[in-house]
Parts: sequence; C-alpha cells; structure tokens
Amino acid sequence: MNLVEKAKEEIVIISRKLMEEGLAFESWGNISCHPVENQVVITPSAIPYGELHYVDMVVVDLQGHIQESRWKPSSELPLHLAIYRARQDVKAIIHAHSVYAAAFAVVRREISVGLEEMAQVVGGAVPVAAYASPGSSALAEQAVKAMGKKGNAVLLASHGLVTVGKNLGEALLRCRVIERNARILLYAAFLGTPIPLEEKEINFLHNTFIHTYGRYTQNKYTAPDLNQERE
Ligand SMILES: [Zn+2]
Repeated sequence: MNLVEKAKEEIVIISRKLMEEGLAFESWGNISCHPVENQVVITPSAIPYGELHYVDMVVVDLQGHIQESRWKPSSELPLHLAIYRARQDVKAIIHAHSVYAAAFAVVRREISVGLEEMAQVVGGAVPVAAYASPGSSALAEQAVKAMGKKGNAVLLASHGLVTVGKNLGEALLRCRVIERNARILLYAAFLGTPIPLEEKEINFLHNTFIHTYGRYTQNKYTAPDLNQERE
C-alpha cells in the first residue's frame, strides 16, 4: 500500500478515535496528513466523523488543487496547507473542537503547562492566534504566526484547537494531552491558583522525553505508530 492510501486509512482510524473519546463534535474539526511531497490527504467537508470512510478522503497538492475527490475538501484546507508550507517538519495536523481546549479559546487564554506530560509531549504552552473567520486565509495566517517555527499546537480564538506532528499518531497524542491538561487546569482553578511549570523545567522534560523516553533502554523516542496502538 502506498503512503497516500495508508494516510487515508489512518485518518479514518483517527476520526473514530476522536469521536469515541469525545474530542470531536458532529462534523466540526478536520484531519490531514502530508505523507509524500506535494500531496496532502484531508477529510471532506460536512461529513460527521462517525460516518467517514476511506473513500471519502480528499487528496490535494500543496496549492490546494484537487487530485482525488468525491466531496469538497474541508473548509479549513487553507489552514492545513499554510501550516505545511510554513513547517517542513509537520506531516500531520488535527483540528478539533474539543470542549476544554475550546473553553480556553473562548476566553482567549493560552493553555499553560500544568502537567509533566504536557511539558513532555507538547513542549510548551499552547498560544492563542488572533481571531479570524473560520475557513479564511486570514485564519491560516494568524495560526501559522502564533505557532511559530517550533510550536506543536495553537488555539484558534473562539473556535478550537490545532495540533501538529511528524505523523498522525503524534498529532493525536498532543490533542489528547492538551485536552486533558486544559480540563485539569479548569479543575485546579476551582481549588486554588494553578501553578504552571517553569520554562527551564519544561525544556528539560521535553528534551528528556524526546531523547530517552521509551520501552527500551538506549532507544530514542519515536512518535507513536497508529498501527501499533493497542486497543
Ligand atoms: Zn473548526
């Protein structure tokens, strides 16, 4: 199976997981993968996550010209393409309207690093991009600007969360960790004043995770492979 076909299958798996885990809502949000040069696989517009199948995936080039499709591509295609064009290291993007991250997006407050796994997996707070209308090129521009050259996630103001990764498994893990971290920050605020980890400690935890975390000694961290994810 070539990498584009594999990406279509993985996006369907991710869609189901987002739905099962309460990270997706109806058809809002979108997923893409950039497995080979100048080809991007993205979810179609307006089809609920639970109903997505392999044949529904849309394939475009980096300028957005349709290569394969039975449906319109996601309305956030400009956002996905702008991120791939700006960041050579990004090969997968998940945009979710998950509840707790969206709450931060509504008050337009960054999601700080409350937990060690947030430091390890995301490597920093999630910034908020300036507001722009959904689907617009202005939104794409603001998201790229806020995420910068090294960020792994960004909040779209009054909208939702975007995570990126070197593969879909990594983007999914970041989505899960950020949503959980956002939920815990909210609970923590009921109990007292959340204390974010300091920048130096965040960098230490992130680097340690990248270079030494794993099941085996001597192994470097490798981004999760969806096909090996245990049910
Ligand atoms: Zn959206």
